[in-house]
Amino acid sequence: MATAEIVDRPTIRQTQCFIGGEWIPAESGNTFETIHPATGEVIAQVAEGDEADVNKAVTAARKAFDEGPWRQMDARERGEIMHRLADLIEAEMEELAALETLDNGKPISDSLAADLPLTIDCLRYYAGYADKIHGQTIPVRGNYFTYTKKEPVGVVGQIIPWNFPMLMVAWKWGPALAAGCTIVMKPAEQTPLTCLRMARLAQKAGIPDGVINVVPGFGPTAGAAIVKHPGIDKVAFTGEYKTAQTIMADASQTLKRLTFELGGKSPNVVFNDADLDAAAAGSHFGLYFNQGQCCCAGSRLFVQEDVHDEFVAKLVAMNQTRVVGDPFDKATQQGPQVDQAQFDKILKYIDIGKNEGAQCLTGGARHGEEGFFIEPTLFDGVTDQMQIATDEIFGPVMSILTFKDTEDLIQRANNTFYGLAAAVWSRDIGKAHLLADRVRAGTVWVNCYDVFDAAAPFGGFKMSGIGRELGEEGLKNYLEIKTVTVALD
Ligand code: ADP
Repeated sequence: MATAEIVDRPTIRQTQCFIGGEWIPAESGNTFETIHPATGEVIAQVAEGDEADVNKAVTAARKAFDEGPWRQMDARERGEIMHRLADLIEAEMEELAALETLDNGKPISDSLAADLPLTIDCLRYYAGYADKIHGQTIPVRGNYFTYTKKEPVGVVGQIIPWNFPMLMVAWKWGPALAAGCTIVMKPAEQTPLTCLRMARLAQKAGIPDGVINVVPGFGPTAGAAIVKHPGIDKVAFTGEYKTAQTIMADASQTLKRLTFELGGKSPNVVFNDADLDAAAAGSHFGLYFNQGQCCCAGSRLFVQEDVHDEFVAKLVAMNQTRVVGDPFDKATQQGPQVDQAQFDKILKYIDIGKNEGAQCLTGGARHGEEGFFIEPTLFDGVTDQMQIATDEIFGPVMSILTFKDTEDLIQRANNTFYGLAAAVWSRDIGKAHLLADRVRAGTVWVNCYDVFDAAAPFGGFKMSGIGRELGEEGLKNYLEIKTVTVALD
C-alpha cells in the first residue's frame, strides 16, 4: 500500500477584528472558539465582534468610501491592486488550503483543487472588470445631452457561510472591489480564519485601509448589526432561507439593497438513454462533494425506472470505495461535517429517512469515533412526500426517486419552493433542452454537475435567492445608475 501523504498543519496568524486597517480585539473583550472538525479540538480563540465593533467597522468603511481613494482612483489601478491580491493568494496557496482544511474540515485535495483556484480566478475575473464599468449616452427629446454613469452602491455588508469560506469571500469581494465599494464582512462563526488571512493579504496588496473590514462573530449579534446599520447601503448574504427572512425584515427599516444566495433541493435527472457511467460519477460528485455541504447539491436524484437497478448498483459501488478520513491526508475524499450541530442534524435526517420507509443501501451512521464524520449514505425508494425528499439536509445523504415519463418528471422536479440548480443526463439533446427550458432553477447542468465559472451567473429562482452572483450580473448588484442631463443651450 502507498504511504499516506499527510500535509502539515498551518500556523494560525490572524484572530482579531480587522477594522480600518488595524487588528483589534472585540470591544467587549470576548472571544469564541473555532475547532478542527476532524477531532473537535479547539484551534483558536477568535475575537467575538458585536454591534460595537460593527459600528466601528461601518465608520471606517464609510470614511473610506466617502473620502478615501478607492472609488476615486484610476480604475485600472484598482484592477491592478486586485490582481496583486490574487497573486499573493496564489503565492500562499498551500498554506491557505491547509488553513481552510483545518477550520472547515474539507479534504486538502479539494481545498487545493477547487477552493483555492476558484478563489484566485474569481478575483482575477473581477479585477479585469474594474476599468470596464461605464454608462451610456441616451438620445432624449429636446436640446439636452443625457448620459448615465455606473457608480458604486456604497458601503456593503457581506455575510457568508462556512461551506466554502474563502470562495465566498472572493464571490463577495470581487465585484464589490471592482465597483469601488467598501466592505464590512462577517465570516461564518464556524470558519473565520481564511477570511481574516485574506484581509491581511488584501492590505499587503495595497487595498487602502478601511476598504475591507472584517468583524468575526455570530449572526444574531454581529450579523444583525450589519443588516440594521443605516451606514450600510447593501447587504449580500449567503446562507439559509430562514436567515434571509430575518435579514429581509431587519433591512426593511433602512430599505437596503439585498442579494441572497440560499439553499436548494436540486433535482438531478437521469434518463434511460444517458451514459450511465458518466451519470453515476457525476451524480456521486454532485451530492457527496464537500461532504454534501453544497447549496446546489443534487439531493433529489430522479432515475428513469428501467435503468434504476443498473444505475443504483454503480452508485453503491462508488460509496463503498469512497475514502472517508483525515482531511489532511491527500488520499481522503470525504472529511468531517463542519460542526456538532450539522452532524446532529444530518444523523436526525438519516433516522427520519429510515423511519419513513426509505431503504438505506449504504452508510446510515457516523464514521469512526471522533470528529463529525458521517458515512456516505444512500437511500433508495424515496417518494416525493418524504421529509428526506423535501428538506435540505446539507450532508452526505443521497435520495433516489424513480420516474416513468418526462411530463410527470418535470412537474415533480418543480414541486418545491427551492429553485437553485438542476441537472439532466441524457444523450437526446431535445429531451435535455426541454428539461433545461422547463425546470424552474437558476442553473441547469446538462451531462455534468457543479461546473462553476467566475463568468457564469449563479443564483436561485423562488426561495433559493434574489439576484445573481458571478459574471456581469454579479457586478450589477454593486452598482447604482446615475442619469445626468445637460441643457445644451
Ligand atoms: P448555516 O446554517 O449555513 O450556518 P446561516 O444562514 O445560519 O446558515 O448562516 C449563514 C451566515 O449568516 C453566518 O455568517 C451566520 O452567522 C449569519 N447569520 C445567522 N443569523 C443571522 C442574522 N439574524 N442576521 C445576520 N446574519 C446572520
